[in-house]
Amino acid sequence: MESIKSYIAQHKGRFVNELIELLKIPSISADSAYEKDVITTSEAIKNALEQAGCDNVEICETPRYPIVYGEKIISKKLPTILVYGHYDVQPPDPLDLWDSPPFEPIIKSTEKHPDGAIYARGACDDKGQLYMHVKALEYMTSEGNLPCNVKFMIEGEEEVGSESLAWFVPRNKKKLANDVILISDTGMIANDIPSITTGLRGLSYVEVEVTGPNRDLHSGLYGGAVANPINVLTKMIASLHDENNHITIPGFYDEVEELSTEERGEMGKAPFSLEAYKKALDIDEVYGEKGYTTNERNSIRPTLDVNGIWGGYTGEGAKTVIASKAFAKISMRLVPNQDWEEITKLFQKHFEGIAPKSVRVKVTPHHGGQGYVTPIDSIGYQAASKAYEQTFGKVPIPQRSGGSIPIVSLFEKELKSKTILMGFGLDSDAIHSPNEHFGIWNYLKGIETIPWFYKYFTEMNS
Ligand SMILES: [Zn+2]
Repeated sequence: MESIKSYIAQHKGRFVNELIELLKIPSISADSAYEKDVITTSEAIKNALEQAGCDNVEICETPRYPIVYGEKIISKKLPTILVYGHYDVQPPDPLDLWDSPPFEPIIKSTEKHPDGAIYARGACDDKGQLYMHVKALEYMTSEGNLPCNVKFMIEGEEEVGSESLAWFVPRNKKKLANDVILISDTGMIANDIPSITTGLRGLSYVEVEVTGPNRDLHSGLYGGAVANPINVLTKMIASLHDENNHITIPGFYDEVEELSTEERGEMGKAPFSLEAYKKALDIDEVYGEKGYTTNERNSIRPTLDVNGIWGGYTGEGAKTVIASKAFAKISMRLVPNQDWEEITKLFQKHFEGIAPKSVRVKVTPHHGGQGYVTPIDSIGYQAASKAYEQTFGKVPIPQRSGGSIPIVSLFEKELKSKTILMGFGLDSDAIHSPNEHFGIWNYLKGIETIPWFYKYFTEMNS
C-alpha cells in the first residue's frame, strides 16, 4: 500500500473534481421535487463504482429510492468488507444562511482547513466520505493490490430514515454477506487527533398522559380536594431520578455494560475543557449522574429526559383551572445491551405503578432503537487503529457518540457483523447546516487510510 501516497499526489486534482461534479446534483431525499436528481445521483454512483473497478454493479429497486450495489470478489477464501454510504443529502434550508449556493461547490480555505475545503450540501455527509471509498478502491484495483473482497451498498434514503434499506437488507442477506462493515458517516476529533467512533446510544421514546377528573375544574371550588394531574405528573417525573441522578426505574441498569478502566482511560484522552463547555452553554455548573465525567454521561451512560410537557392553561393572563389532563414526552438514551423494547416496558410498568389512585395514567410508546458498540479488541477495530497509526502517525482515540445511527444495529441484527465507523469529517464541518464543507486534506487522508485498513484487516483475519 506504500504507493497510495504517490497515487493520490498524481490524481488528487481529478479526485476533487469528480467529487465536485457529484455534489452539483441536488439529491434531496426529503423533497419529492428532487426525485429525478436523486435517481440521477444513483446512476452517477453506479458509473463511479464501475470506473473504480467494481463488478456486477446494479441499481437495485426498492419501495422508494434505489440502492446501488457493486462488488469485487477475488477469492472465496479471503475476507469480505462491506462498504456502506448514502448518496442522498439533507435539504439545504435556510438558503439565505449559505455564503455560496449549496449545489454550486466552491473551494475555500479556513482556519481548520488551511489546504482548502469543498463547500456544498453533502460535501461531508455523505457524498465526500463515501467517495473516499470509491477512490480508495480505484487505487487498489488499478495498482493490482486489492487484498480482499469488497462489496458496496450505497443507499438514497439515509436522511429520511432508511426505510428502503430496512426492507432491502433482510431480503439480500446472502448478497451482502461480509466479515466487517465499513462506514464513513461520522467524524473525528481534529486533524491532529484522529478518533474512531466505537459506540452509539439507543433510544426509547414514550408519551405519557395523566388524567384526573372528567373535566377541567374551578381551582377555587375543587382545589385541594381533587388531584391535579399536572401536580401529580411533575411529581412522578421528579421521582424518576434519585439524589445521585440515577434513574429509579427498577431493572433499568440491569443490562448496562460497565466499561473497563482501560477503555474509560482511552476515552478520557480526548481533549475536553469543562470551562469552555460551560461557557459555550452559559451555565455555571454541569449536571449528571454521580461518578461519571461529562463525556461519559453523554456517551456511555443511559439517560432519561423530558422533551416536552403540557397541560392546563398557558394562554395570556390567568385562568384558575385544575386541568383534567397533563402530558409529557420522555426520551431515554440507552447504551449497548439495553434492549429498547424491554426498557420501554420497564418504564411503562414503573410509571403506571407509581401513579396515585386519584389519577389514571396512559403510556404510549413512540419509537426506539438499539445501542451499538464495537469492542476495541475486535479485529476490525484493531485493523482500523493500525491504519490510522500508519497514515496519521498517531494511535486513534476510541470515541463513544451520544447519538444514534439506527442502520448500524440493523446491520448487526440482520448481517451479524460489526461495523467500523471510520469518519474523517470534523464537528465544525457543519453537516445538516448551512455552509457544509469537507476539508480536502481530510478527503485525501481518508483515501490514503482506507487501503491500509483493507491490508491489516486481511492480514489479521488470516
Ligand atoms: Zn450521513
